[in-house]
Amino acid sequence: MEVMGTNRLPSGLSQTLLGLLCALLLLLPVQASATVEVVTTLPSLAALVREVGGAQVSVQSLLGPATDPHFADAKPSLVVTLSRADLVVVNGLELEVGWLPPVLRQSRNSRIQVGAAGYLDASLTVRKLEVPRGAVDRAQGDVHPGGNPHFLYDPRAGASVARAIGEKLAVIDPTQAAGYRQRAATLAASLERFATEERARFATLAAAHRTVVPFHRSLAYLCDWLGLSTPIDVEPRPGVSPDPAHVAKVLAQLRRLPKPVVLQERYYPTSTTQVLAKLAPAKLVVIAGGADDQKRQTYLESVRETSKRIYDALAL
Ligand SMILES: [Zn+2]
Repeated sequence: MEVMGTNRLPSGLSQTLLGLLCALLLLLPVQASATVEVVTTLPSLAALVREVGGAQVSVQSLLGPATDPHFADAKPSLVVTLSRADLVVVNGLELEVGWLPPVLRQSRNSRIQVGAAGYLDASLTVRKLEVPRGAVDRAQGDVHPGGNPHFLYDPRAGASVARAIGEKLAVIDPTQAAGYRQRAATLAASLERFATEERARFATLAAAHRTVVPFHRSLAYLCDWLGLSTPIDVEPRPGVSPDPAHVAKVLAQLRRLPKPVVLQERYYPTSTTQVLAKLAPAKLVVIAGGADDQKRQTYLESVRETSKRIYDALAL
């Protein structure tokens, strides 16, 4: 009796352990194959991937919304992050040309090199603005030869990119393809709906008020979406700091506007724009360089915040 009693306990225990082990073994391979590691260059792309990928992906952006994507540092930590990725999503149109190619190469990750299945160039899916006609030379400033690369401020472009991310994830992880495509379609539809509503809201502003003066040519898609005109930029040419003569021209232009508004991203210096705002006088609206993905801000929340701030500056 005693012997049987002592035998029964360990056998019961081992059965429980065996059961646990089986449950773990069942779980492990599922989790390992279900997590797609995605790395994006920009935080707005990461926000889109997070929504389309759902629980099946983990995503990290190489840059945050406060970093100028034209001139990021090619830090070794970026190489390490890329070395583990199954998929890299880049903006394209040479926005990241100053820092991404070397870190991509140094990652020695064959899955995500240009042309590989794990490389997605978001710009291939969007309608392009400001594509230069003829040859581009340095005298024109930092002009992107394939067209203006700053399309992520326009949720209509965001919708195209969301669909492309869904299709790409479906190829990389076919077991979850239906989920990726469904979430991409839902997100794209909500972005397009918002884009239409917001464009209509801006159209209710007086025509003379629908003008802004941007710092860089980075707001072309934003202004195209919202029906805003941009008579002059604070930069005389893309990437070129304004000299006093150009600042005087910008000031004169601002003084002709009934609702003068200067617009810039947070990562550009505010020294010139603050002086312009004071002298004109004009409202200075400083916007984020993209979604704050680290704080889990969604792409839609980010574009909504930006357009609301511009609307309020023009309407009030
Ligand atoms: Zn640019």
